[in-house]
Amino acid sequence: MVYDGPVMDNHFHLNRQGRFLDAARDFQRVGGTHIVLVHCPDFSSPPTTREGHSKAYRDTVEMAASVRKEVGLSTRVVLGPHPAAFAHQFEKWVLEDGEDGKQQAVNNYRDSIDAALPFIEEGEAHAVGEVGRPHWPVSADIWALSNELLEETMHLAAQGGFSLQLHVEGESDETYGDLAKMALRQGMDLTRLVRHYSPPNIDRNYTHGLTPSVLAGKGAIETLLATYEQRSHGFFLETDYMDDLRRPGAVLGPKTVPKRTKQLLDAGVPEDVMWDTHHDLPLRVYGEATSP
Ligand SMILES: [Zn+2]
Repeated sequence: MVYDGPVMDNHFHLNRQGRFLDAARDFQRVGGTHIVLVHCPDFSSPPTTREGHSKAYRDTVEMAASVRKEVGLSTRVVLGPHPAAFAHQFEKWVLEDGEDGKQQAVNNYRDSIDAALPFIEEGEAHAVGEVGRPHWPVSADIWALSNELLEETMHLAAQGGFSLQLHVEGESDETYGDLAKMALRQGMDLTRLVRHYSPPNIDRNYTHGLTPSVLAGKGAIETLLATYEQRSHGFFLETDYMDDLRRPGAVLGPKTVPKRTKQLLDAGVPEDVMWDTHHDLPLRVYGEATSP
């Protein structure tokens, strides 16, 4: 099977202290053409001011520019806070300041979203993410607030006509349906709601019209093959590559999506399905990539 179409990794992080451009080169060497570079927050001290958020996002935008210029890959950029950042700041600030701390965490979340929007308006970023809710057990308070803020962000996305990359809790059968309900309440086009780190089951009865971005581990192939004909409108493939030297190849290595694409084609997935995953659907969800 000779597929000469594009190959896009829909969730890729880079880190100047990691392998940085060499990781992007690895991806390119095995046939990768496009990456969606997702902002990686500094988990040890996430920004606490709007200016701090803008500055951190600016750095991600500049990394994407280096990937284009020095490696020659097309890129799209996704900017936003990580659900973990909100939950951790919330816990810390509530301990320190009670109700005020709670409000401070909410305000900082809103600032982190607001700071991303000008980049989208200027065409320097293509979506907001990874937003969502904690994917580990949290207090009822944090859970309720995370949901409220997520729905608020869905409202902004519907108004602004941009997409969201979601990072949400694991394997529960209710997750997709729950998210679809929230998004429809806010008038969002469900295609624009991308579930990052999604399980390989892409049957439309399971995904409820959202766009799954399947974590392309070895074990994903079988379920993908068993369900892709029942998909809703399409799906992405991703590695969630972290570019962390302490955890090389986590979550999956940079060469994985090109490799899985080839395996899917070899297993009989038609070329036009792969063109959709790597070209048509990205256009609908994010608009044009920025070329080198
Ligand atoms: Zn990620």
